[in-house]
Amino acid sequence: MAEKNLLVGIDIGGTTVKAALISMEGEIISQTAVRTGIMQSEEELAKVAQSILAVAGDDVDRVADVGLAVPGVVSPEDKLTNAPNISLDLEGLMDELAKVFPGCGIWPVNDANAAALGELWKGAGAGSKNLVFITLGTGVGCGIVIDGKIVVGAHGAGGELGHTNVVEDGRQCNCGLKGCLEMYASSRGLVLNYKEHCASLGIEPVKLDHEAHALPIFEAARGGDAAATAAVADLAHYLARALSNVAMTIDPGVFVIGGGMSGAFDLFGPFVREHYVEWSIPACQNTQILPASLGNDAGALGAAYQALTKGRAR
Ligand SMILES: [Zn+2]
Repeated sequence: MAEKNLLVGIDIGGTTVKAALISMEGEIISQTAVRTGIMQSEEELAKVAQSILAVAGDDVDRVADVGLAVPGVVSPEDKLTNAPNISLDLEGLMDELAKVFPGCGIWPVNDANAAALGELWKGAGAGSKNLVFITLGTGVGCGIVIDGKIVVGAHGAGGELGHTNVVEDGRQCNCGLKGCLEMYASSRGLVLNYKEHCASLGIEPVKLDHEAHALPIFEAARGGDAAATAAVADLAHYLARALSNVAMTIDPGVFVIGGGMSGAFDLFGPFVREHYVEWSIPACQNTQILPASLGNDAGALGAAYQALTKGRAR
């Protein structure tokens, strides 16, 4: 019988499923990405499972555990309880994966938590045991790792930093609350910051293709545009406020900033650092704030790491 010394890490997105065959040391051996539709019917789920199986090739007997990063809240009972951005029958998919990977543990994990674990294992946070990962995209996601373990919480909502309050009675958020960090530090938030500053400074806004189109604003800020610079400064201000609050709650060793907007980390990172130090007690002031380093591989790597640790604890 083949030695079971490989992992499969899967990253489920709204339109794409990525899968990677990964060694126990976190080395990616092979990977694949397939486009998918609505993942509800047994037929579609079986098709997705088959395309994931293909990544293991002839080594399928060597796969010990399978990790699955999903965009939603995963309860401690491995149920998908809140997934506004995807149509996925998680239990159905886990059943299909159990058929193609017989004898393997199938371990689901929230995608931001998976990215946190990926960065902890092989990325910017490697070597750290306590890490907070923040993903800045159309929303603000977060994964908190303490002593090497993801903080899931009593309801699976541990690390929902995007919905922490930064402005009393502020902008309305999709979650139902007002003034959430997500409404100021996501790409949608940046666009809103920018439009406000354009209006108050009497500046004609640059052309944006959609309500979360951050790139032209970063470009304008690089060119010295006053409204764009102020919008980026707002992002940094509110993000730093949230980070300093987290620092004085759990005192992580490192903050890692990922997601689509982390490409502009050089632009906002120094401002975040400046405010963060200002709002933190001396014990927390030297905590590193780093850009993520794994890019699109973080989810699959982190899912595999989740599978590795869960599998060992089985
Ligand atoms: Zn919210």
